[in-house]
Amino acid sequence: MLFNDIPGLDPIKATLKRSVATSHLAHALLFDSTVGGAGLAMGLAFATYINCENRSAEDACGVCPSCIKMQKLIHPDFHFIFPIASSKKIGGNTSEAFLPLWRSFLSEGPYRTLPQWLDYMGAENKQGNISVEESRGVLRKLSVKAYEGEYKILMIWKADIMNASSANALLKILEEPPEKTLFLIISDQSDRLLTTILSRTQRIHIPAFSDRQVMEYLVQRGYPEPLSKQATFLSDGNLSEALTLVKEQQDDTYALFADWMRSCYKYDLARLIELADHFDTMNKERQKALLEYSLRLYRDMLLWGQGAGELLRVPEEVLTFVQNFSKAVSFDALGKMIDEINKAYLHIERNVRAKMVFLDLSLTMAPYFKIK
Ligand SMILES: [Zn+2]
Repeated sequence: MLFNDIPGLDPIKATLKRSVATSHLAHALLFDSTVGGAGLAMGLAFATYINCENRSAEDACGVCPSCIKMQKLIHPDFHFIFPIASSKKIGGNTSEAFLPLWRSFLSEGPYRTLPQWLDYMGAENKQGNISVEESRGVLRKLSVKAYEGEYKILMIWKADIMNASSANALLKILEEPPEKTLFLIISDQSDRLLTTILSRTQRIHIPAFSDRQVMEYLVQRGYPEPLSKQATFLSDGNLSEALTLVKEQQDDTYALFADWMRSCYKYDLARLIELADHFDTMNKERQKALLEYSLRLYRDMLLWGQGAGELLRVPEEVLTFVQNFSKAVSFDALGKMIDEINKAYLHIERNVRAKMVFLDLSLTMAPYFKIK
């Protein structure tokens, strides 16, 4: 990851590069970004820059042995801690055991979120966590001298999910840091960090991407322009969300949703059973995504019903759907349907059989279409 790979944010890049040039490095930096923002990418670019054997005022070289090792996340002076959860794929309960999987996850891009990582590692229905053992194990990792560079770097992604004992173990290390060690703490929910940790770090505030930056990023990656434009419009500077949206579009969630709702509207029982069977074969993340998508559209219908249609951020085709469906359902019923979808979402999270949940939801929703 190089600074140049990250869209925009030039003032932040300049500040970071200057801190290296003038050797004014704080021993702990907090990369405080928005969800789907550049926190992780910026942290990686900064670590690469620090370790580069041939850096310029502009950027790391990207080709020296150190840059290559950083690119592969195998640099011996670079350590990573991130949330993990027990998974069928991996035996072990530290970040180290998950490192190969983590590397392949990040090779797909640095604009990722915790739910994506949990999904990727096959953490079934579990929250990720950073254990207190992990925090303590850090000291062992950092007690050896740097192998190649001047600094040892420890990056902690999603430090905000640490519980009190893990956070306190980390705090202890930040209070008496090993020599020549840099802590790069990455958070997209910094309000959840202990104030005592905040006070020990230099905070680098990283704003969300602008629409133009998101758009350029998507187009450069070969996504069709209309699709990119739409995803940019909908994602509000959340690059992770934008990427998910363009992919989601390919999965055609909307087509599935529309088919489902039309079948509810027509009370086509045979089709509703088929669809429930189909939803049952999807993985849990897709099931939740479909329900989230449904919630989003139902909220849009509420807005439309209240005459606030100009606030809607949906593509043309979906807008027509929203308009038509808001005519078919009463305002009151919309509220109840949203409650039902939320309930279904909870049931999916609690591992109720998806086929039952979706069929039940279909049969509960269908009568609402007739009421108006
Ligand atoms: Zn280099």
